[in-house]
Parts: sequence; C-alpha cells; structure tokens
Amino acid sequence: MCAQCSHSFTPQYPDFPDYEHKGDDDNNRDRWLLGEDVPGVENGTWSCPHDAVDGFNKCPFHLPVSDRPPELDVTAAFLQHIEEAQNLETRRDRRRNVQFIDAKFESFDIAGEVIDTGSGHFINISHSTIKNANFKRTRVRQPIRFAHATFQEPTNFQSAIFDGYVGMKNAKFLKPARFKGAIFNKPFAIRHSTFVKDAFFWHTVFKEYATFRDVDFEGYAYFRGVDFEKYVRFSQAHFYDEAWFKLGEFGDDADFIDTRFDSSHSFINAEFKRTTNFSGVRSSGPMDLSGAKLESLEMTPDKIESATQYVDLSESSINEGELGQPDEGEILYDVERATLGNIAVTSSDDTSVADNIRIVATNFDGFEFESDDMDPEVVGWKIHTVFDESLLPEDRRGSLSPKKLRETYLKAKNGAKQVGNTTAAGHFYYKEMTYRRKHLANLTPSSAGTKFRNRFDWLRNAVLWVVTGYGEYPLRVIGSSIGIVLGFGGLYQIFAATEASISESLLFSAQSFITFIVGSPPQGTTTVVATLSLFQGFIGAFFIALFVYTFTRRLSR
Ligand SMILES: [Zn+2]
Repeated sequence: MCAQCSHSFTPQYPDFPDYEHKGDDDNNRDRWLLGEDVPGVENGTWSCPHDAVDGFNKCPFHLPVSDRPPELDVTAAFLQHIEEAQNLETRRDRRRNVQFIDAKFESFDIAGEVIDTGSGHFINISHSTIKNANFKRTRVRQPIRFAHATFQEPTNFQSAIFDGYVGMKNAKFLKPARFKGAIFNKPFAIRHSTFVKDAFFWHTVFKEYATFRDVDFEGYAYFRGVDFEKYVRFSQAHFYDEAWFKLGEFGDDADFIDTRFDSSHSFINAEFKRTTNFSGVRSSGPMDLSGAKLESLEMTPDKIESATQYVDLSESSINEGELGQPDEGEILYDVERATLGNIAVTSSDDTSVADNIRIVATNFDGFEFESDDMDPEVVGWKIHTVFDESLLPEDRRGSLSPKKLRETYLKAKNGAKQVGNTTAAGHFYYKEMTYRRKHLANLTPSSAGTKFRNRFDWLRNAVLWVVTGYGEYPLRVIGSSIGIVLGFGGLYQIFAATEASISESLLFSAQSFITFIVGSPPQGTTTVVATLSLFQGFIGAFFIALFVYTFTRRLSR
C-alpha cells in the first residue's frame, strides 16, 4: 500500500503580489483561491491527497523533476486521477482527487482528450508550473482552475472546448499562448494575468461573460474575429504591443474603462451590439476606433494622459452614445465618413465643443447638431474645422477639396433636415452651394459639351449666390433689385429719344420694375426703350416673387 504524498502548500499570507489595480479582489485569501472552503485546506495549508510514488514520499505531481523515474508519466497520472474520480463515493473525495495544486508538469499534453470527472467540481491546477501545455482540441466537461499557474513554454489551447467555468486569474504565460478557435461555454476569468509573449485569441468564442480586467499583454494581442456573446471586461488591461480586434463581435456590453493601448490597435469591422464604454482609455498615440460598428458608445473620461488626445472614429458607425471631454485637456473626435446616430457631443464645462469634432463627409441618422455643449454657430457653421490640426494624421491636415466639403455640407444639410433643425439645414445648404460653385470652377472638362455645361452650372450657381444668397438672405434680393433699377435707369438714359434728367430715368426704371404696365417714359417712347421696359417688368415680377420666397423661408424657421 502506497503512502500518501507528504507535499503541503502554504501560501504566505499576507505576502500577496501587489496588484496595480485591486478593484474587487480585496479578500486576500480568496485571491489565492485556497480559502478554507477548499477541501484539504486547514489553517491556511493545503495538503496533497494523492498516493506517493513507490520508493518516494511524494506523488507524481510533487516529486521533484530530477527524482522522477523515466517511466513516470505525469500526464497519464493526471488522466488516471480524473477517471478515478468518477467512481469515488463522496463529494469531498471526488473534489480532492482532482486537486493538482502547486504541481509541476514537465509536459502536459492532453490534446484531443475528453476530460470528464462525471461531476461539476473544479479541477484545480492552481499555483502549478506547467511546461508544454497542449490542450489542442481537448474537451473539458467541468470547471477548471489555472489560477496563479505559470505556463513556462508555449501553450496551446487551440480549438479546445471548455464546458465549465475556466479560472486563469493571475496566471503567467511566459511564452506565446494560443487560444485560437477555442470555445468557452461558461464564464472565463483571466484577470490580473500576464502574457509575456504573444496572445492569440483568433476566432475564440466566449459564450458567457469573460473578464480580462487588469491583464498585461506584453506581446501582440490578437483578438481578430473573437466572439464575445456576453459581457466582456478589458478595463485596466494594458496592451504594450499591437492589439487587434478586427472583425470581433461583442454581443453584450463591452468595458474598456481605463484600458491602456501603448501601440497600434484596430477595431476595424468589429461589431459592438450593446453599450461600449471607452471612458478613460489611454493611448500613447491616436486612439483608433476607425471602422468599428458601435450600437452605443460611451466616452466620458475624467482625465486624459496628455493635454490633447486624438480619437479616430472615421468610417465607424455609432447609433447612440456620448462623446465627452475630460476635465483637463481636450479630445478631438474625427468622424470622417462615419455614420452618427443620436450622439451627444458634450463638454465638461460651458465651452462649445463644435471644433472638438471633425465632421467630413459624415453621414447622419438622428444627430442633433445643436445642443447645450455643441454650438456650430461658434465656428461659423464650419463643422469640418478643428481646434488643433496638428493632432490629425498627416494626410488629413490642410485644406479640403471643394468637392469633399460640398459632400460634407450636403450630408449635414440632410441630417439637419431629418431632425427638423431648419436653421442648421439652411446654413449647411448655403455652404453646400458655396463649395459646389468652387468645385464647378475647378472642374477640368473632358469635352466641349461638358465644358459648356460646367460653365452654365457655375453661372447659374453664381447668380443664385449673388442675387439671393442661395435663398438664405432676402436682403440680398433687395440689394440686387436696387442694382437692376439703377442699371436699367442708365440704359433708359442712353437710349432716350429726348433729353431727360437722371432722376426721371430712374423713376421710370423703378416703375417698370414693379409693374408690367409700361409707364410713359420721360424721354418719349422708342422701340428699344419699350422692349427694355418690358424685359425689366418681367425681371421685376420674378424678383418680387424671389423676395417673398426667401423672406417666408427665413420666417418659417
Ligand atoms: Zn502530491
């Protein structure tokens, strides 16, 4: 009969590693996951329940590696203990039999195996040191803990399926860790862990909540195509190197509060289906959320790392949420070609934030252009301008082409109309037409026909601009009317049959302008004067209609 393993493990309370972010893990013993509720723990000491290897006083898992006989297969011993557990009578014995705490695995290759103890107890591998962990396509049917474990060699969890809770709290991965295609059917908790090298979570599926809170990703972090079906937390996580969330799916709330990105990162085509909170996110360079699809985005940071922060939301689509400003410093949100729904652009004080958001060719779907904090009038309705152009990527600095600006204000006009803001719509329409005129002047015609058409379009636009201010300025109609009366007055003077005073000519011009009935010209009628008068009468009627139109247009706002 074998003796019991003599190994015991006493975490040195209270010498716990000091986490940078303590958060909700203040209960020290629980941090070690060796509280008194764990069977085999007495007075803070856990003792090993397993049989010692023949001729030694330790079990296969605790025998020093140098003492292990060549025929000893620790992985096989692990599988044997799992299988034995199925036949044990008591709950306590079953739990004890699957404790591998503080164990040393020289190799842990259970690729393709199905791990099933027939009960819902945790397999506890906490505090262990594991080399060459290979869980490729392994199916683990119950909960498993790797808390405080150290993975010394590359770790492979590719396409593994976990049917129970997986605890990897405070684990350390010294070499690349691969979770590509793994499926977690129950919650996954890996908070406070450290990936010293690259972490691959490509197309990994998390069916329940996942928490990566305060995880340090010191190498690349690949979350491409990752699928979080429930709540996920990356709060206080620190990405030292590249972080890729391209095509990721976030089915529930996603929490990136105080997350830190030191290097490039991408959320292109990532889809956030519920509330996403990026408040207090820190980024050494631009914060890149370009191309992301966000149902509800919250960015209301208390503070930012430096005086200014550039947040690239270009080509993203945001249905609702808030783009806020910190108490100190300023954030520049770039929404070029993005689609904005009901987004509040807010400031922490009373200053307008109209130049804290760069609107270029942006689409709108329910966006309110004017609010307590957002007042485009402050920037003369030039919504494409920003408070500091040097924050922008180089290719977005400098003046924009009239074509792009025309598109910008056309879309803004339509957006303002949609929410019933006719004042903003009017201002944007004026800008749209102005940039359209400039664009037409810049066009290089491809043929004589298009040249004529461009010129004609330009002329029509220019006339509308001068005469009516694109229908936005009724006073301009009055001004142009006076100009016409003066002009025709001059003509009557020139084509007069007999001598007449200038005031008489002007009076006749004014009469012709406001009525179709030709008055009797002071100079006597000639054919030229009669024709001119008829023509002026027609223009006059047109201008009066124009005045009424622009005036009522303004009144109706
Ligand atoms: Zn032991």
